[in-house]
Amino acid sequence: MVKENLAICLEKLKVSAAKAGLSPSDITLVAVTKSAALPGICEAVDLGVTDIGENKVQEALLKFEAVNAYAAKRGARLRWHMIGHLQTNKAKEAVAMFDLIHSVDSLRLALEINKQALKINKVQDVLLEVKTSLEQTKSGFSCDEVSGVVKEMISLKNISVVGLMTIAPEVSDPGQARPYFRRLRELKNDINGLRILSMGMTDDFQVAIEEGANMVRIGRGIFGERT
Ligand SMILES: *Cc1c(COP(=O)(O)O)cnc(C)c1O
Repeated sequence: MVKENLAICLEKLKVSAAKAGLSPSDITLVAVTKSAALPGICEAVDLGVTDIGENKVQEALLKFEAVNAYAAKRGARLRWHMIGHLQTNKAKEAVAMFDLIHSVDSLRLALEINKQALKINKVQDVLLEVKTSLEQTKSGFSCDEVSGVVKEMISLKNISVVGLMTIAPEVSDPGQARPYFRRLRELKNDINGLRILSMGMTDDFQVAIEEGANMVRIGRGIFGERT
């Protein structure tokens, strides 16, 4: 099933990339494995998936070594993405594991990531999570805060802000998510030095790509509905 699902996602990605004037290789597909069991994840790796997204450190720890070992046997090196809310007390484990943390939503967290990255002599790439809609439940910086936060973080030598991430509100028609994606793209364009725009999930990634996403996070679309 992963094979068919992935093929459908890649076809959709290709169509949307073309609409945005991009080639499919300009867009990173992060396969979100939070619901998936090892066999499904390994199948995805066999099919060429190189970027794995998890929303919880503890869940990622359960899969990290086994999936990396599987990939290594096939000569592949995976990149791991932390996409969920990160508690400061998990920053150490996150920095040890993840190539990109999409969910930096406070300066306090950024300081802790910087501190932990310094300890292992790493420069941790991160995205700032931005609340492009006004739901109370969401974490993230407000649009107005972002450029100031980017400036403050320049002095942190072991953390590098490489882009922005947002989660669009749940809407009945994916087209309704368009303004939120557009807002994030405009924010990114206003700030020098940002290259990654992580937006779009199973239900709305095509709209996100049309609006400039170059990284999409797809779970159910690849691994099926979460049970
Ligand atoms: C679960 C999750 C996704 C993937 O969602 P799907 O609807 O399964 O594609 C993407 N981003 C974040 C932050 C998530 O938690």
